[in-house]
Parts: sequence; structure tokens; C-alpha cells
Amino acid sequence: MPSPLPNGVSVKFAQRSAYKGYRSFSYLVPEKDYKVVDWADWNWAGYHMVECTLEEEARVAEILKTNPYVSVHEHADFCTRDMSGKAPYFDAMRQGRDACAYEALSYSNIDCVFDNMMDGTNVISSPAGWKWIDIVHDLGMRLCDLAHQDFLVHCTKADDIFSAKREGKIAWVAAEEGAAMIENEVDRIDILYGLGVRQLGITYSESNALGSGCREDADGGLTRFGRECVERMNKVGMLIDVSHCGTQTAYDAVTVSSKPIIMSHTGAKAIWNIKRLAADELLQAVAERGGVIGIEAAPHTTMSHTKSTHDIDSFMEHFEYCGPLRLGPRELHRGQLEHPALARQARLLRRGHRQGHRRQCDPRAARGLGIGKICALRREAS
Ligand SMILES: [Zn+2]
Repeated sequence: MPSPLPNGVSVKFAQRSAYKGYRSFSYLVPEKDYKVVDWADWNWAGYHMVECTLEEEARVAEILKTNPYVSVHEHADFCTRDMSGKAPYFDAMRQGRDACAYEALSYSNIDCVFDNMMDGTNVISSPAGWKWIDIVHDLGMRLCDLAHQDFLVHCTKADDIFSAKREGKIAWVAAEEGAAMIENEVDRIDILYGLGVRQLGITYSESNALGSGCREDADGGLTRFGRECVERMNKVGMLIDVSHCGTQTAYDAVTVSSKPIIMSHTGAKAIWNIKRLAADELLQAVAERGGVIGIEAAPHTTMSHTKSTHDIDSFMEHFEYCGPLRLGPRELHRGQLEHPALARQARLLRRGHRQGHRRQCDPRAARGLGIGKICALRREAS
């Protein structure tokens, strides 16, 4: 894929041979079986390149060769081409037929992707979203689509990641950012697990029966029902995500859980003090129990005091703060398989910026492969 860069240089990106060109719902007849949506091209944002020395490129290649590259938070789907207002996008979401970004993933180095699918924009039957029937619809629709191709492999256990990497495929993990859809039914955790979901958030910004969300003014911590849910998630083997929880609720979940948990997409309040990001004590608590910290790349979140706009440098400031400085080598090694590769990328990218290769984050990158994945494109060997 020849790709013109802003400086006029043409670079070729490599595509995985395991991808055979499948596009979502190609087992159906467009317009006859479903209404076609005008999705934006996955590569609408263009290409950005960080120039590295041959030694640096070889080092990154070696890391990617020997470690599975796991993205613990994505929405591997599309925006509508028309994003001038909410209507076109939400009209598309209401059809309940979210297209998966197979081709985009085929150009990435990602070996395993945690896909949160429609999530907060799952408005099939309700403008407020998060309805049980809609979540099951979204999941079933995606699994049906996955069943008609063999590039993304539905991942239900850790070994699936390693076998996918060996075969040049990508392990696909079903995830949900919040648990509002289980209402007051703890058994729905078993059902979600049975349907193939492996990561579940406690709250999605607003409060629910389990606890308080990060958007609220007050935080009552994990409820009695929330504790029961944490215990059930431990028992069935569901990874607990506290990215969108209030601070107390997140801290309670970390301490109640008998297993390590994840903050799949967050950042440090010390770098940018907003409700959505985490205080040092919480980051430390997650790390001390063997958990994983993933850095949020969605627009207007991981900004910093030194950057008035959200771009890859402010993102990397959070990464550098939360990684080697706060979590220490033990957790760095044990907690996150992708971490060494990304830490290296952080240094390379920051160096690239100093050389004048500035990158910007666009709001439309909220879905699809976001800013954090730009550096993950596979460069074709020259
Ligand atoms: Zn989120």
C-alpha cells in the first residue's frame, strides 16, 4: 500500500497475508438484506511516520516478533463518513449492524484486540443505550460476522493469543465497558461469559447498580451488589475493568477482587487532572496487585499541562508517567505483554516529535484505529 506522507515521501505498508479481503456482512446481499451505511474509509486520517534509525527499527521488529502485541481497548469499527452532526452516526447505530474494521487491522502489528464494539453508542432500541437485549444483539451480530471469515479469531483463552500470532492472525476479545445491562441480575455475568465476553467494566461513567461512575459528583463506592458481581467475575474468569469508575468505586473493586484487574484506557491525573483519569494511589493499587494500566487515546482525554492540544506527545506523557516511573519493572514485565514495545515506541515517538514530525489527534479518531495505533502500522520491508 503506497502512502504519501506530508513531506512527500512514499512509504509502503505491509498487509498480513492471512487477511483475504473479507468485509463485514459480505455473506448477505447489500440493500436487499440490509441497508448500506456510508462508512468513512478506515485510513481517512492519512499516514504519519516516525523516522527511526535502522537499529531502532530492528529493535522494534525484534520486540514485535517475540512478544504478542495486545491492544486492551479498541472499538474496531467505523464512523459514518458524514459526522457533521449526531444524526447520521446514530441512525447507523440504530440498525444494529456495526461493521468490523478487518482491513484496518490487517495493516496493524496487533496480535490481540479487545473490541468493545458499539458499547456507549449501542442505541438500537433506546437512546440511552446499554440495554441487555441490545448488548446481546451487538455481540451476536459481530460473532456471526466473525464466523464468516478466519482472519480474526474469537479469543476465549490466553493460548488463543499465541496461536493467532503464530498463524499471522489476530485474536479478537469481546469486551464491554460497563455493566449497566446486567441490571440487578448477577447471573448475567455468567451469561456474558458464556456468550464469549472476557472483559467487563463496573460502570460506564454514570452510576449503576454496581457502583458510581467517574462522571458523578459523588462516589458511594462499590455497592453490596457490586461486591457480589466482583466476586462472580472472579469466579467465572471475567477480567474486571475500572476505567470509567469513580475513584472510590474503582479502588473498592481493586481491593475486593481476588484477581488482578485492568484499567484498560485511562491516564494520570498528575499529568491532566480530569475526572476520567486516575490518581496515583489508584494506579499504584492496580499495579501492586499485578493489574494492567492501558493509556486512553480517545480525543480530549490524555492531554497534559505542557500540551494545550491532545496529540501523541501528551498521550505519551501519560504513558511514561504510568509506566516505568510508577509501576516498576516487576509489574511492567508481568502485567502487560505489549508494554515493553509501547514503552520503546514512546521514546521513539517523542524523539520523532523533537525532530519536527508533529502528529495531531482528530475527534473522528474516537472510533476505529485511534492515535495510539498509528505507530502500529506494518512497514513493508524495503
Ligand atoms: Zn471508554
